[in-house]
Amino acid sequence: MFEPLIPLFSNPAIRAGLFFAFGLCIGSFLTAFTYRIPRNIDWVREPSRCTSCRARLAALDLVPVFSWLVMHGKCRHCGTKIPARYPLMELACGLVFGLIGCLGF
Ligand SMILES: [Zn+2]
Repeated sequence: MFEPLIPLFSNPAIRAGLFFAFGLCIGSFLTAFTYRIPRNIDWVREPSRCTSCRARLAALDLVPVFSWLVMHGKCRHCGTKIPARYPLMELACGLVFGLIGCLGF
C-alpha cells in the first residue's frame, strides 16, 4: 500500500518538505489545544472560531502560517489582530519536523 511512497521518502529534500508540512499541521493542532484545553472548549466537536467576534472560520482561514500571512494577521470578519504567536508556533513545529525529516528517521 505504501510502496509507491518509498521513493519520495528516500529523497532528503522531499522528505524534509513533507515533514515540514506535517509539522505545520501539528503546530496548528497544538495552538488549538493550548487555547481550548484551559478554557474547556471541546476540541473535537467545536469548530474553529475567531476569539474576538466568534465567527466560524472556513478552511482557507485555517491553513497554517499561510492564512495568517495572506490576511495580514487579522480576522477576515472583524479585523481583530491575530497574535503572531500562532503562526510562529506552527512555523517552529514545521521547522523541527522538517529538520527531523532532513536528518532521517
Ligand atoms: Zn473576528
